[in-house]
Amino acid sequence: MRAAAAITVARAAATLSRRLGRGGQTLPGVIAGRIAPELPRKLAAELPNGCILVTGTNGKTTATKLIAEALRESGERVLTNSSGANLRGGVVSALVSAADLHGRIDATIGVFEVDEASLRLVAAELRPRHIVVLNLFRDQLDRYGELDITAAMIAEGIAATSARLYLNADDARVANLAGAAARPDLVSYFGIERLPERLTDATTAVDSDRCPHCGERLRFSRIFYSHLGHYGCPNGDFERPRPDVAVVDVQHADLDGTEFTVSAGGDLRQLRYGLSGTYNLYNALAAVSVATGLGIDPAVTAHAVRTTEAAFGRVEKTDVAGRTLWLLLIKNPAGFAQVVDTFLIGRARPRVLIAVNDLPADGRDVSWLWDVSLEALSQQQPEVVTAGTRAAEMALRLHYAGTEAAVASSVDDGISRLLSGLPPGGDAYILPTYTAMLQIRRALHQRKEAA
Ligand SMILES: [Zn+2]
Repeated sequence: MRAAAAITVARAAATLSRRLGRGGQTLPGVIAGRIAPELPRKLAAELPNGCILVTGTNGKTTATKLIAEALRESGERVLTNSSGANLRGGVVSALVSAADLHGRIDATIGVFEVDEASLRLVAAELRPRHIVVLNLFRDQLDRYGELDITAAMIAEGIAATSARLYLNADDARVANLAGAAARPDLVSYFGIERLPERLTDATTAVDSDRCPHCGERLRFSRIFYSHLGHYGCPNGDFERPRPDVAVVDVQHADLDGTEFTVSAGGDLRQLRYGLSGTYNLYNALAAVSVATGLGIDPAVTAHAVRTTEAAFGRVEKTDVAGRTLWLLLIKNPAGFAQVVDTFLIGRARPRVLIAVNDLPADGRDVSWLWDVSLEALSQQQPEVVTAGTRAAEMALRLHYAGTEAAVASSVDDGISRLLSGLPPGGDAYILPTYTAMLQIRRALHQRKEAA
């Protein structure tokens, strides 16, 4: 009875919230959780094949989407949360919104992206059967030093379950989470064995390069992207585990996607993937790893990986009057650098709009912009416009990296400047923080409506 009441009230709140223009993706979960704290656990238990949680700093939305698609194509009815609604309220909202008044859910399995700091709570509540940990990057300068705390919190969440784990072998802090598994045989690793030279990040591991056991600086024999690579502790107490699912070769990689060979369970599989960038390879690997663990037909997984479109906000391509605009979310130094590497390096005079806001959802502190290595960008002689509440600071950062940018008076003005002089058939790149991305999507939508 209490469950029915909680579901009814939560639904009403969602409707009201949507009418007020506030989305309504999280509120029903928060309300339902207050009225009936046991509700999330009961609803999750309704899913016959249980839940999968996906966490990590970068790639949650993309990996969740890939896993959900592979499951759908293998015949499951999948319940998932809206992209970005990855705090406890967002996950519970997905469950509440899918439930009927008797607390029944018409889905066979749940796949939820969960914020790193929320995993502890969500795991304890939902008792997932599978947990995926993609990577741990520091998000912003003000969170420096908190990575070990984040890892410890994720470990606590894992320890509250008897879930099968899928861990990134190339991220030392993530690989070390194996210690929190209920049993050693519940752990699978994914990683990259080999990458072509040109796709390899030449910079040293700056981010997270200490042994999780003794604190000694890890030695890297290969670095693929930021601190992800092949590492070992010089004291011999910790080294990269051998991945069960691994990229062993990359045949082709450009803006339109990647072709690569994955070794999984002793089989070699050829995969095609519509996303570019090393960080996206890890997302595909995570999906293949989970699909292998669930016994999904490799051909089905390969099809899902090939056809899944980029997750909301990560890599989005839109057409405006015959021009192609790439929308690439930036939210931390490693992600920003990777977007620059993947999309801008190697293009002559790329046209770029960088829109930086400092609203709470973006992170108030934008000093992390000064952490991004943007020096290589100046060699492409890009035409850059900056916009958003921190447009001036972004332009100043670029100035010190050797690129002079124009400062737009608004996001809309920024789009106008980006498009002016861009010939039909041309490409331009928009790099927004989270709330700037929402503004840009609205502005582009209005332009299309008006056209
Ligand atoms: Zn060590």
